[in-house]
Amino acid sequence: MGSGRFSVDLSAPVASLRYVGARTAARLERLGITTVRRLLWHVPSRYEDYRQSVPVRDAANGQTVSLEGVIEDIATRVAWRRRRMTVTTATLRDDSGDIRLVWFNQPYLTDTLAAGTAVSVAGKVRLDKRGLFLSSPVYEKTAFTGSVRRHTGRLIPVYPETEGVTSKFLRYLIQPLLEYGDISEYLPDGLRETAGLPGISEALLSLHYPADAGHVPAAKRRLAFDDLLLFQIRALRQRRAEQRRAAPPLAFDRPFMRRVVQDLPWELTRDQKVALVEVLQDIERPFPMNRLIQGDVGSGKTVVALAACVQVAQHGMQSVILSPTETLAQQHYATARKLMPDRFGRIALLTGSQALLNDRPVDRSVLKLSILRGSVPLVIGTHAVIQKNVRFGRLGFVVVDEQHRFGIAQRAALVRADRTGKAGTPHLLSMTATPIPRTLSLTVFGDLDISTIRSKPAGRKPVRTALVETHERSEMEQFIRDQVKAGRQVFVICPAIETPDANPSAARAKKGAQTRLLWAQAKAVQDEHKRLAEAVFPDLKIAMLHGRMKPKEKQSVMSRFRDGWHDVLVSTSVIEVGVDVPNATVMVVENADRFGLAQLHQFRGRIGRGEHASWCFLIPSADATAHQRLDAMVKTDDGFELAEHDLRIRGPGEFFGIKQSGTPDLTMAALADLELVQSARTSARALLKESPDLAAYPLLAKQLDHLSRLSHSE
Ligand code: ADP
Ligand code: MG
Repeated sequence: MGSGRFSVDLSAPVASLRYVGARTAARLERLGITTVRRLLWHVPSRYEDYRQSVPVRDAANGQTVSLEGVIEDIATRVAWRRRRMTVTTATLRDDSGDIRLVWFNQPYLTDTLAAGTAVSVAGKVRLDKRGLFLSSPVYEKTAFTGSVRRHTGRLIPVYPETEGVTSKFLRYLIQPLLEYGDISEYLPDGLRETAGLPGISEALLSLHYPADAGHVPAAKRRLAFDDLLLFQIRALRQRRAEQRRAAPPLAFDRPFMRRVVQDLPWELTRDQKVALVEVLQDIERPFPMNRLIQGDVGSGKTVVALAACVQVAQHGMQSVILSPTETLAQQHYATARKLMPDRFGRIALLTGSQALLNDRPVDRSVLKLSILRGSVPLVIGTHAVIQKNVRFGRLGFVVVDEQHRFGIAQRAALVRADRTGKAGTPHLLSMTATPIPRTLSLTVFGDLDISTIRSKPAGRKPVRTALVETHERSEMEQFIRDQVKAGRQVFVICPAIETPDANPSAARAKKGAQTRLLWAQAKAVQDEHKRLAEAVFPDLKIAMLHGRMKPKEKQSVMSRFRDGWHDVLVSTSVIEVGVDVPNATVMVVENADRFGLAQLHQFRGRIGRGEHASWCFLIPSADATAHQRLDAMVKTDDGFELAEHDLRIRGPGEFFGIKQSGTPDLTMAALADLELVQSARTSARALLKESPDLAAYPLLAKQLDHLSRLSHSE
């Protein structure tokens, strides 16, 4: 096929293809296909094996075959039983004989495949009382495609489809690009050979039309590698751009900080010390820190952040700690006031419902003015309130707690709100209790420095975890009663026991579904509260908490529970983040199999915070079959081990919502392949070292542009 070849522009919009109009483009977009690249990266979900081509005479009942011949006659009739159902019957003939072809509800075939048309058809051969036939075979006109088959005669891709976009249509778009188009190789040859990867044309052809199913994995590996490489290059470049910005260099005053740490009521753990030193060394530099502290719930991240804020304050600069919820903000504020009463002079709490300065209520606008003047060294509050409404005079340090996007956006909002320009870009510290598996930290979060707090503060009692089957319930209830008698408190968590809509990720998609979810959760909590209060523990004081209560109500329930007014708190997952009730020693999770591992581990982190031994009871739903996740919970108390486990069970898509970011499934899968990720990382480093702006690799640079454009249009 020397002549008639054309070059394929991967970054062209899919609408630029000949048979794609506005309507089709909109439909394709539903599959994530916006560009030619995304079209060619659309991975078949499986393949039909139509490789067996036989003369018509040799077609045997039950075989899946491809047959070539000429349509001898064709006619459509309306089937008598059901209205509107049409049956089209044709005869296919080749030199060896003829066979019947039957289609339903495709009357137009009478014209498309008029008598005399040369076709190739494929499907399963069946037998009825009139003889052998093919039912609804796929077909293609051979005059049209010449010797290269698109729908028959080879392994044929079957794709994820959507309304109005069939696999057949996708093949129609994809196959000519692969077989008549030239796709330029954009990876440098040396790199490709070192990594042992096939060329791009070969990989794409093997992905869609493999000569043998065994060729598919290498093809997928190549395509995934490309995305990983681009991710890496992007992360490395973003990091370099970040480092070209100016930030206030805040000298690490070691004797001073030693005193700060010695003044704490307990010794910092080894990991806390290392993390603190890493942070303090970062903020000494004249470019902005971008660091993440990851550590299990209760590992003591907040204290590290607060100590760093002290160093910032010593230089006359301001720090802000942003929390996702009011409860957490209050908790951080209380910790700061308790542990470091004199280090800041003035500490402010600013949330939707509260404005405090050193424990005294203040007028919001007065407080905001003080912050703008730079006279409040530490401000603690909720993301929402501070990002939107507060401007800082001398902001040097931003701490973002439990936000999976890791702070960049939050800091950007604060910086935008405050371009006095004097302070430069503030240093950024993010904190998370959801550990990032190593492959993800290398790729998706490749531009972050990470400090890990793995050791727990001394004297922490491990939490014992048990799976509780129905027949063990009463035993557990007796145990709970004994704990309460001994003065301890108990959490009970129950999810909404609802079906499709109540699935949290589906719910996120729609506001209406969200509301329904809240209702369902509230109902589950109310039912459980009633059951416990009336039937199981009529002798105990039982409170409840759910998402349909007003923030004020929630807060008062929470603080009453913390103060020991109630023995048992029945709740939705709202207590997932943050609350610190050292006296709570039992966590019961109903229908535990409906929660993800990370979430279960977060729940468990709510207990074991005090001096008493603690227990976590996981109760599977009645209809639960596999307990894979629950078993993992029983086996280990280590959040990092669980995160790796979770990655294996669920795939990385669920982590940090990167599923929504338009990352192709192929790459998602490859994120679990540490070796491939590392190879991409090494390659990215080498490329940028040789050609920092990628000038030597214009085709690769173009791919990168393309990736950036995609992610910016999110
Ligand atoms: P995280 O933010 O990682 O969930 P926190 O910083 O809130 O954890 O710490 C959890 C609890 O442990 C707090 O009550 C805190 O005061 C306490 N804590 C922190 N570090 C230590 C330590 N080194 N030794 C003893 N207790 C600690
Ligand atoms: Mg915390």
